[in-house]
Amino acid sequence: MNRRFKLDVHTHTVASGHAYSTVDENVRYASEQGFELVGISDHAPKMPGGTHNFYFLNLRIIPESLHGIRVLKGAELNIMDQSGRLDLKKGLIKRLDYAVASLHVPCIAPMDKDESTQTVINVINNPLVNIIGHPCDPRYPLDIPTVVKAARDNNTLLEINNSSLDPKGSRAGGDKEILELIKECKRQGLPIILGSDAHFYTKVGCFDNIIPLLEEAAMPDELIINTSVKAFLDFISIKNKLLRTAETD
Ligand SMILES: [Zn+2]
Ligand SMILES: [Zn+2]
Repeated sequence: MNRRFKLDVHTHTVASGHAYSTVDENVRYASEQGFELVGISDHAPKMPGGTHNFYFLNLRIIPESLHGIRVLKGAELNIMDQSGRLDLKKGLIKRLDYAVASLHVPCIAPMDKDESTQTVINVINNPLVNIIGHPCDPRYPLDIPTVVKAARDNNTLLEINNSSLDPKGSRAGGDKEILELIKECKRQGLPIILGSDAHFYTKVGCFDNIIPLLEEAAMPDELIINTSVKAFLDFISIKNKLLRTAETD
């Protein structure tokens, strides 16, 4: 395990419907691996077999720290259409510590490059969304420089997803674009966030597939937000503050 990484905020529990560990198992494992912060990001309601709204409403009962590390309560929201509509109500998302939003085939059909790019930009512009989950899925090709610029202008993180680089995974085939995304973030000075997308506890904090790409891109640690809990919390607080001062629901 690579000790320079302190956090992983893309993890799933049994509540997601196709993941197999509990909050306690995930957090305990992250703590044992030397992580300082773990985020729970179960699939929002439109993912088949996923959670009900009440699941997110009640997340506050989970302590803010467990097994000696910080626990954030988030969600992996589904992008439902090209306007960027999400599958949890604004009032509910605002109660979370952070939100990831992703394109998933059960919720939105594959799109061409122009459509995918515009859809992702619409989501980046949404003050409710802190992180775009697994960009560079071959089913949703992106104009990478345009997306990175929009993300930088709107304080949104683009995730480098460990599972996307699994050759047996459902999003396999985007490695070249993921490397291009890392290099473009470096060029534009936007930090990336690594996400394990763990659906079993032994994968929490696992970024093994990503490391060779970071090396190839010579990505500096300052531009990998997982190397600092403070840098991550400061980054998401920019949008979250905006949200909390904005109009209600
Ligand atoms: Zn999943
Ligand atoms: Zn996902």
